[in-house]
Amino acid sequence: MNILVVDDNNFIRQVVSAMIIDSGHVAIPVDGHVPALAELNKGTLDLVLMDIEMPEVDGFELTKMMREAHPQWFPIIFLSSNDSEEYLTKGIDAGGDDYLTKPVKQVILSAKIRAMERIVQMKGALDRANKQLEILSSIDPLTQILNRRGLEDVLASAWQSNRRQEAELSLLMLDIDFFKLYNDNYGHPQGDKCLTQVADVLNKTLNRTTDSLARYGGEEFVIVMPFTPVEGARFKAQELILALQKINIKHEYSSISPFVTVSIGIATTNDGASNISELIKQADIALYEAKEKGRNCSQVFQNK
Ligand code: GH3
Ligand code: MG
Ligand code: MG
Ligand code: MG
Repeated sequence: MNILVVDDNNFIRQVVSAMIIDSGHVAIPVDGHVPALAELNKGTLDLVLMDIEMPEVDGFELTKMMREAHPQWFPIIFLSSNDSEEYLTKGIDAGGDDYLTKPVKQVILSAKIRAMERIVQMKGALDRANKQLEILSSIDPLTQILNRRGLEDVLASAWQSNRRQEAELSLLMLDIDFFKLYNDNYGHPQGDKCLTQVADVLNKTLNRTTDSLARYGGEEFVIVMPFTPVEGARFKAQELILALQKINIKHEYSSISPFVTVSIGIATTNDGASNISELIKQADIALYEAKEKGRNCSQVFQNK
């Protein structure tokens, strides 16, 4: 571990640093708050040993400053010659995790460092697990594309940056045609397979890294296309329809085509939507019109 030793006394810095090196860790001795905060900003510290009595900024104050500057937790152990209950309480309240008195024995310091190292490792594992969970909670397990929750995040940030840059953002809402008949006749597992195939084709047909594909509901998908005016969105929609035609997923029960098709509703930010749900609503209205028009086609939302 990289252990910061903050103390205004040069002799103590040296003794404590030697103990740290003896326990197999790296010691970074500093005098006062300025170099201490500079080391903290490097983002490589694992533990801090903090003196209390120091000129200018004392250890209580510096601990508070460090906790405020660095929201991610790391252990801080006070190392003070004052063994009063009042100091110990104040130290813990300021954000410290333990309190040792000087002079400290090598065995005690080493044991405390080991205990803190264990907590640091557990916290690391927990942080990684949380990150993984965060990613998983935005992914649809069947198709491995974004789920509705993931879509909400993507849309929120796309909407924000779009507003700043005053570009156009297009949203495509896709719905598989006669999918109930597909499911009822080929069975649910085959229906699931079809959904995965459709998601794959849509994914492969999108080539801009700024575009996002999500599963909106059962057999409905949404594509978010930043920096894309309506002509571009209409063109892409046609490409998606053709790509699906090319892979030719048999659907003998569809009354409009021998293979699985989709209908697509398109809405762009130019049509006056004042928030994300309005934009989705417009795409949904356009989708309904595409269905009415005969399916296997796209329709742009028209402000009437
Ligand atoms: P339309 O052309 O008007 O869109 O008709 P449709 O039959 O596609 O639409 P409807 O909304 O009536 O049916 C959607 C069907 O999608 C209902 C259900 O059988 C199927 N479905 C929804 N979610 C899933 C899923 O996760 N897996 C499978 N296999 N089927 C699903
Ligand atoms: Mg001191
Ligand atoms: Mg539907
Ligand atoms: Mg459908």
